[in-house]
Amino acid sequence: MASAAMEAKKGNGVLKQGVDVLLEHLERQQEGRGGVGRRETPEKLAQRIAGVAETLRIDDEQEPCEEQVLLQACRAVLDANPKSGHPLFFNQLYGKPNEVGVLGDWLVVAANAHVHTYEAAPAFVVVEKEVLCKLARTIGGEYEKEHDGLFVPGGSMGNVYGLLVARHHANPNIRRTGLHGGPPLVAFSSEQSHYSYAKAAAVLGIGTDNMIPVNCDECGSMVPEELERAILLAKEQGKQPFFVGATAGTTVTGAYDPLPSILRICKAHNLWMHVDGVWGGPVLLSRKYRHLMTGAEHADSIAWCAHKLLGAPTQCAAFITKHSNQLLPCNASAASYLFQPEKCGASFDPGDKSFMCGRRADMFKLWLMWKHLGDHGMEGIVDGTISMAEAFEELVLGSAGKFQLVQPRTYANVCFWYIPPSLRPFRREKATAADMEQLGRITSLIKGKLHEAGDAMINYQSMNGVPNFFRIVFRNHCCLAIQDLQHMLERMDDIGATF
Ligand SMILES: *Cc1c(COP(=O)(O)O)cnc(C)c1O
Repeated sequence: MASAAMEAKKGNGVLKQGVDVLLEHLERQQEGRGGVGRRETPEKLAQRIAGVAETLRIDDEQEPCEEQVLLQACRAVLDANPKSGHPLFFNQLYGKPNEVGVLGDWLVVAANAHVHTYEAAPAFVVVEKEVLCKLARTIGGEYEKEHDGLFVPGGSMGNVYGLLVARHHANPNIRRTGLHGGPPLVAFSSEQSHYSYAKAAAVLGIGTDNMIPVNCDECGSMVPEELERAILLAKEQGKQPFFVGATAGTTVTGAYDPLPSILRICKAHNLWMHVDGVWGGPVLLSRKYRHLMTGAEHADSIAWCAHKLLGAPTQCAAFITKHSNQLLPCNASAASYLFQPEKCGASFDPGDKSFMCGRRADMFKLWLMWKHLGDHGMEGIVDGTISMAEAFEELVLGSAGKFQLVQPRTYANVCFWYIPPSLRPFRREKATAADMEQLGRITSLIKGKLHEAGDAMINYQSMNGVPNFFRIVFRNHCCLAIQDLQHMLERMDDIGATF
């Protein structure tokens, strides 16, 4: 015992020093010091980590490392990782973690809480109820009267829960008997929807072929007539439609599906309507932009997330449904070693509503952030982020033909090309296949050069035959100024002109 206590004390010493390393890392990014991180091959990276930790390998007879070596390894790993908090980190849909959110996450780690029963995590269980209730009131409509939900490990999992609950609603026997016999169940989501819908269909035995992609318009929103056509076609083929997965804020272009029209179709065909608001759902917090989510308040379920635009540390995602009596029958196993009904607070146990056993208390960081910032502060993140995207779109439009939008912006995504001097002035309808191919090639070359130098990390991609374009997504940026964006475009132009 004594030696275990000594070990714990030693561990605490490392932890205390480690906290300083973490704070220093966060501060550096807040102040915009250092680059976004340079591109490095896996071999070089392995050498770098090996250099501080003596070797990267965990040896067959691994000796304990010195404290200082451990701390140096921590620094090296932070150093080698892209600085997601850097103002010009645009690679994915997350960025600088909110500091109070970080505190919330660290607190959960220190408590090592598992949110399965009230007795095991009473404070987190009541906080989860409260955050979900606030979210339901923010969604409004039918969610204000009745709702149920869970914090889940990521947006993809939110979509899995949507499909799972819908499947149970369509046929509660499947959970017991499996998917045998009967007409195949089919679900629908737009061709621009997140790939997690297809993965969820695979996981739940519905099959990826039965997650039917519905055509979108040129902005990336589902075309309701196409949805109706696909539903009728599936019925004609003897299949059983049961689920429509709408998207509020597509990952690539930030498009919102027309929720009221989809709702009407779901009602007419008696289908479960789920909204993937993982990227675009935060607009609910903004009086100016919440109209983009109109209709979601009638949807059967919603996946919502605070770890993208809102800047809560990853992961912080919720699944919420307006039906208060679906999650439990869908997932319950009534494990007698956990959920003894006579225990204090047993009616608060969320564990049997989840298909996981242990679950992280991801709700706490959002609760702490919301308390810290208030409704106004949360709204300010959404409005400030979208207005930065708007300002950037203006820069692209005012670039005298050096850059061109792929399509107009709806949310916080700006999709654009760099136009090399030889193709200016660029007219898309007159461009040849070779011109388009050149645009696509230059996009990836510029991305590579910016990353190599550690100046910025920008994502790019192609879409439906449209060649590679840059996709910049704005999220909770603390120290990003419009001048930084102007400067980045100038760098891109300098690099592009050399090809
Ligand atoms: C990112 C994203 C997801 C997946 O969320 P994770 O938390 O990464 O699992 C789902 N839907 C949309 C629209 C997204 O942009």
